[in-house]
Amino acid sequence: MDKIRIINGSLQVPDKPVIPFIEGDGIGIDITMPAQRVIDAAVKKAYGDNRKIIWKEVLAGEKAYRETGNYLPDETLAAFREYLVGIKGPLQTPVGEGIRSLNVALRQVLDLFVCLRPVRWFKGVPSPIRYPSLVDMHIFRENTEDIYAGIEYMTGDIDAKKLKDFLIQEMGVDKIRFPESSSFGIKPISKEGSERLVRAALEYAVRRKLPSVTLVHKGNIMKFTEGSFKIWGYDLAENEYEDKTFTWRQFDKIKNEKGQAEAEQALEEAQKSGKVIIKDVITDAFLQESLLKPYNHSVIATMNLNGDYISDQLAAMVGGIGIAPGANINSISGYAIFEATHGTAPDIAGMGKANPSSLILSAVMMLEYMQWFDAAEHVYDAMEHVFAKRRVTSDLYVQMEGATLLSTTAFADEIINHIH
Ligand code: NAD
Repeated sequence: MDKIRIINGSLQVPDKPVIPFIEGDGIGIDITMPAQRVIDAAVKKAYGDNRKIIWKEVLAGEKAYRETGNYLPDETLAAFREYLVGIKGPLQTPVGEGIRSLNVALRQVLDLFVCLRPVRWFKGVPSPIRYPSLVDMHIFRENTEDIYAGIEYMTGDIDAKKLKDFLIQEMGVDKIRFPESSSFGIKPISKEGSERLVRAALEYAVRRKLPSVTLVHKGNIMKFTEGSFKIWGYDLAENEYEDKTFTWRQFDKIKNEKGQAEAEQALEEAQKSGKVIIKDVITDAFLQESLLKPYNHSVIATMNLNGDYISDQLAAMVGGIGIAPGANINSISGYAIFEATHGTAPDIAGMGKANPSSLILSAVMMLEYMQWFDAAEHVYDAMEHVFAKRRVTSDLYVQMEGATLLSTTAFADEIINHIH
C-alpha cells in the first residue's frame, strides 16, 4: 500500500496514495460518495491511469459506535498517523460522553495547529456583498491555544474560588467587577504556538506568490496575549523571511527615520520585487474592512477565537457554510485532515438535498496539498461552470432566480459531466 510521507519537511506523494476517510454522520452519508466520485473523475482526467486515490474507510461517529462501541476507535487515529493525509465528513458531537467533540479530539491527538479556510467566490453563487468577485482570502486560524484551550472555571465551584482567591490575595488583582459571582476562563497564547502558525501562513503566501499576510489581533486591549502574537509575527517575518517579506513595522521605522516618501518608496520596491507584505489589523477593524475592501487582504493569520468569527463571516460573504471548505493541518509533521466545515444537518439528512460542495472543495484543497494541481483545476473549472449555469442544490436554489434544482447526486454528476 502506498503511503504519503514527509521527508526533510517535504511531502512525498506516491502515484496511488491511500487516503483514509471518515464518512461522517447525518448528511456525511449523502455527500461523501458523490464527493469522491468528483475527485476520482478529476484525477483520471488530469493523469489518466497513472495516478489514482485509493480511498480507505475508517470509522468515527455514529457508525463507529454501532460497529465497535467506540465513537473514535484507536484504529482510526492510527490510520491518520500512518497515512498522514485524510478527509472527513461532519461528525455529530456525542451527547453525555466524556469527549467534548470528536473533531476537537482529532485535532488535539494529531496536534493539527492550523485551521486553514480558503475563501473564494464562484460566479453565480448568491452573496450578500456587492462585489464578491473581489474576495480571495486564506484564513490561518490557530487551533490549539487561546480562550478555546478549555481552561474554564464555573462560578460557585471550588476551583473558581481558589483561582479568585489567588488572583486577589496573591496577585493583588482588584479589577474583577463582581468577584463572588464570576466564572473564569484562561487565555494562553505562546511564542511557539504563534510562531508556528505565522510561519505556516508565511510559507503558504510565499509558495503561492500571494501579496500579503495580515496579522489580525486585539493587541490594543489584550497586550500580553494578542499584542505579543503581533510582535512575534513581525519578529518572525523580519528574522526568518527577511529577503521574502516587507513589514508594516519596517515601513513605520523608515517613515520615522527618513520620512513618508522614503517609506512609500521602500514599500513600492518590495511589492515590485514580489515580497510578501506583512500587515496587522485590529480584529474589529478587520471585520469591517473585509466587507468594505476585501481586496486589501490575502492571507490572514490569527488566533483561535478571532479565527472562528472571521471564518464564518468570510464564508457568508461567498455563499455560506454549504460551500466553504477547510482543513486542519500540522505543517511540521505533515498530518492533515481535510473536512467539510458544516455540521451533520440532521434536518435534511438522507433526503438528497445536501450540497456536497464544501466536502468537494475540501478534497480539492487536499489535491493541492498533494501538489496535484491539474486535478484540482479541473474541479474548480467544472464547479464554476455548473454554478454559472445555476444548476444547484436546494440551499442555493432558494436564493437564486432562474435556477434549476438538483439533488446531491445529480449536482455531483453535473460536475463530473463537465470534467469529462
Ligand atoms: P449544521 O451545519 O449541521 O446545520 C446548520 C444549517 O445549515 C441547517 O439548516 C442545515 O440544513 C444547513 N446545512 C449545513 N450543511 C449543509 C449542506 N452541505 N447543504 C445544505 N444545507 C446545509 O449545524 P448544526 O445544526 O448546528 O449542527 C448539527 C450537528 O453537527 C451537531 O451535532 C454539531 O455538533 C455537528 N457539527 C459538526 C461539525 C463538524 O463535524 N465539523 C461542524 C459543526 C457542527
